[in-house]
Amino acid sequence: MCEHQPRCPSADAPGHATAHVVVRHVSQGWSRLCNGVVLFEDTGELLPDRRAVQPHRPSGARRTAFATAA
Ligand SMILES: [Zn+2]
Repeated sequence: MCEHQPRCPSADAPGHATAHVVVRHVSQGWSRLCNGVVLFEDTGELLPDRRAVQPHRPSGARRTAFATAA
């Protein structure tokens, strides 16, 4: 899992969506973070314990996770 220093937020911590992206599938619209969270382009999330977080679209805050890969 996370080998970054400082450690990224764990999947159940506030701000878990700010962890590093380890797998990015832009064409499929999702990325996996080092804490196991899967982030979808519509801001939905799938947590490692299989809980789903519905899309909540904050004002563009997630765009950076997808903006750098073309
Ligand atoms: Zn990490």
